[in-house]
Amino acid sequence: MYTTISADLCLYDPRNPFHDELKYSHGDDMPKPRDNCSCDSCFYGRDELAVRLIDLLDVIYEYAGYDGGHHKQWVIDQCLRTVLGDEYRVWIANFKAGDWDTGIAP
Ligand SMILES: [Zn+2]
Repeated sequence: MYTTISADLCLYDPRNPFHDELKYSHGDDMPKPRDNCSCDSCFYGRDELAVRLIDLLDVIYEYAGYDGGHHKQWVIDQCLRTVLGDEYRVWIANFKAGDWDTGIAP
């Protein structure tokens, strides 16, 4: 599934599994990901959700192994910030299961 998600990234993003194939055609002059790019992922808008999902997985990969409920809560909060972006504050304001706890960074 990770490969399926990362294949939706901009072709110039090094996390895209097909990125390495571009090295042969661009060499050291590789364009920056999403910078006026018209690859299918950028053109069709597939890239934004893929970036957020991969960043979400990176947060879990880096931090979810720390013991303690307060650290786990911090990971959940970071996941929400990653996925929701600018809509995080509105989502938290409408949280229905009590006051939102942002946890403690590990
Ligand atoms: Zn692109």
